[in-house]
Amino acid sequence: MGKETELIKQKIDVVDFLRSYLTLFPAGKSFKALCPFHAEKTPSFIVSPERQTWHCFGCGEGGDIFKFIMRYENIEFPEALRFLAEKAGIPIRTISPTQQREFGVLYDMHADAAKFFSDALEKHIPSQEYLAKRKLSKDTIEEFSIGFAPGDDSLVLHLMNKGFDIQDISRAGLAYKNNRGLYRDRFEQRIIFPIFNAVGKIVAFTGRIIGPESETSPKYMNSPETPIFNKSKILYGFSHSKRAIIETRTAFLVEGQMDFLMAWQSGVKNTIAVSGTALTKDHLEKLRRIADAMVVSFDNDSAGFRALERSIETFGSFDFHVKAVHLGKYKDPAEACEEDPEFLKGAIRNAEPALKILLERYFTEKNSADIVLVKRIVRHLLETISRIKSPLEKERWIKEMAKKTDIREETLQKELFEIEARGEKKETAEKKDPPKKKEEASRMRTICERLVLLGFTDPEFSSILKTSHSDIFPEEFLKTIEAGEKDPEDERVALLKMKATYEFSGIPKDDLFREFNELIRQFTLEYLRDALEKKRKELKKAADDEVMMKKTADEFHSISKKINELQKNEKKK
Ligand SMILES: [Zn+2]
Repeated sequence: MGKETELIKQKIDVVDFLRSYLTLFPAGKSFKALCPFHAEKTPSFIVSPERQTWHCFGCGEGGDIFKFIMRYENIEFPEALRFLAEKAGIPIRTISPTQQREFGVLYDMHADAAKFFSDALEKHIPSQEYLAKRKLSKDTIEEFSIGFAPGDDSLVLHLMNKGFDIQDISRAGLAYKNNRGLYRDRFEQRIIFPIFNAVGKIVAFTGRIIGPESETSPKYMNSPETPIFNKSKILYGFSHSKRAIIETRTAFLVEGQMDFLMAWQSGVKNTIAVSGTALTKDHLEKLRRIADAMVVSFDNDSAGFRALERSIETFGSFDFHVKAVHLGKYKDPAEACEEDPEFLKGAIRNAEPALKILLERYFTEKNSADIVLVKRIVRHLLETISRIKSPLEKERWIKEMAKKTDIREETLQKELFEIEARGEKKETAEKKDPPKKKEEASRMRTICERLVLLGFTDPEFSSILKTSHSDIFPEEFLKTIEAGEKDPEDERVALLKMKATYEFSGIPKDDLFREFNELIRQFTLEYLRDALEKKRKELKKAADDEVMMKKTADEFHSISKKINELQKNEKKK
C-alpha cells in the first residue's frame, strides 16, 4: 500500500462511499446497515466515520473502503485501486508495469473497442433493423453500449492505430491469427453485447450473429477468459441490477442477454442473466449475500417442470426461497416483453413459490385417486424437498403435502428423514460441513456479546438477562455480567465497558430498548433453531419406535411453532 491509497482514503469518506451500496442508519456517532456479506434481518454492520472503517459483528468481516470494494465486487487489489483512484480523481503511479499490462491495458482496450463497435452500429442498417425488430429502444442500446462488429481486420487496425500492441489485442480475444499468419478480428458481422464487471467496466463481449448460423459460426460467441474476465464470477447485468436486487432482496434470473435487456427495458430492474455459462457456486454465494429469493420463469410442459425442480434443488440448497413466473403463451421473457411491455412486471408480482406450483401440478384430482401413483409422486417430491437447506421451508412443504395427500405429516417427515439419511451416508465420505456450524456458533456468540454490552450500559438490561433468560442464556456470558457488577476494575470488564460506551453512547433509551428486545428475539430464535435441529436428529433415531416418534414429533412441532411465532413478530414490526 503506497501513498496513493492513503490519499484516496482521505478523499473518499467511508460513509459517503458505503451509502452508494447500502442503506445506512445513524446509530450514535456511527452508522449501521444490513451486512451485505451474510444474510441477516437486523443490522450488525457498523460504519465508523471516526476511524473510517467498517465492521460486521455478525460475520466478523471488516476493513477500509479497499477491503469493502474488493470483497463486495469480488475484485483484486489492482482493480480496486484503479476504481477508487478514478473515483477520487487521483492519478495512480503505484500500479506496477506488470499490473498495468495485466489489467490496465485490457480495460482501456475494451473501452476503446466498445466505442468502435457502437460507432459501427450507427452505420450498419441491417443491425439497427434487427434491434428495432426485437424492440430494443435507443436508450437501452446506449445504456448497455450495444454495437456491431464489421469484422475483417477493422477492429485490429483501429486498436493498433490507438497504440495497442497486437499481442495484447490477441490476448484479449479480440483478434486471432489466420492460417496465412494474418491477424483478423475475432468478432465478425455480429451484434455486440459488452459484458460489464460488477463495477460497470467492460471486460468482455458477446457477439450474436445476424446472418445464418453455421458450424463455423455459432449463434453466440464470447470473449475468452482473460485476467479481467472470469466467467464464473460475472453475471450479465449484475452491475446494473445489483441496487434493485439489494433493495428487493430478490433476483429475477433469465437465460440470455436479450431476456435481460428486454426485462430491464420493461422496468424489471432486479434481473440477471446467466448468458450461456452455468451458474457457479461463486455466483450463488455472491447473490445469496444480497438476496433471499430467486425468481425463475418456466414453461408449462414437462421439460419446463423438470427445469423448475432442478431450480428448487440448486437454489434451495443455497437457502434461496424459489419463486416461479409462468410466461403463458410466450416462449421466453424477451418475447413476452416484445409483445406486451407490461406483462412481465405483472407476472413477477404474481410469482408463486415454485414448490406450490409443483404440488398443484402433481396432485391433480385424477392423480390423487391412484394410490400407487401418489406414493411415487410423494417420494419424488420428497427427494426435491430434501435438497432444500432451510428446515422451516422443508417443514412448510411437508405440511402442504400432507394437506394435498391426506398422508399424516409425521409419516411424510419420517420418509423425508430416511431420504436425507441415505443422502448423508452417501456424502459423509466426500465432505462434511463444519464451517457452517462454526458460522452459526459465532453468530450466537455475537448476539450474546452484544447483549452483554447492552447489560453494561444499563442495569435494567442485565437484570432482565439474569432473571428471565438465565435458563437459556449461556453461563459464560452470565458470568461476564456478574463480573462487571462485582469487579469494575477487572481489565476485561473495563475493556467491554469502553466498547459499550463507544457503541451505545448518545443513543436514546427507547432505541436501546428496541435493540435489546430485538437481540433477545434473535437469541431465542437461534436457541430454538438449535433445539429444532437436535429434535430432528432424535426423530431420525426414533424412526423405528412409534411411541417415541410421536412424542418427539410433538416436541418438534411445538418448537417449530414457537419459531414461526417469533418470525411473525418480526414481520409485524
Ligand atoms: Zn456480516
